[in-house]
Amino acid sequence: MSTPEPTIFERIVARDIPADIVFENDDIIAFRDIAPKAPVHLLVVPKTSEFANIAELANGDPDLLAEIVAVADKLATEQSNGEYRLIFNSGESAGQTVFHVHAHVLSGSLDESSLGR
Ligand code: 5GP
Repeated sequence: MSTPEPTIFERIVARDIPADIVFENDDIIAFRDIAPKAPVHLLVVPKTSEFANIAELANGDPDLLAEIVAVADKLATEQSNGEYRLIFNSGESAGQTVFHVHAHVLSGSLDESSLGR
């Protein structure tokens, strides 16, 4: 059986490609989105590639999901005014392009244009 190609986020975790990393611990990495849709646009990503989307993560490791939310809240406080939109795109038709679960943290002067992405 062939090994699946690593996602872009696995490559960022492995330091195979660069990213503007704003937080890291044993379980999670967070970095700036390369195509920001808000003044502050961060991606909070579990290091494991086990879960493709939020439902898989919620079922498989709810503590890790809670940790992602806590990191998102902390970063929005540090990098903005502590108010934010937290988005998990799930499925291609919903705008998901990277099938390694991740939270978008959008903060600072949000308008309707950042609602649907
Ligand atoms: P999705 O569309 O799956 O919800 O979100 C994937 C996000 O990853 C997009 O907002 C896209 O801009 C971001 N992205 C894709 N490739 C890279 C990259 O190489 N570096 C960074 N920092 N973000 C990326």
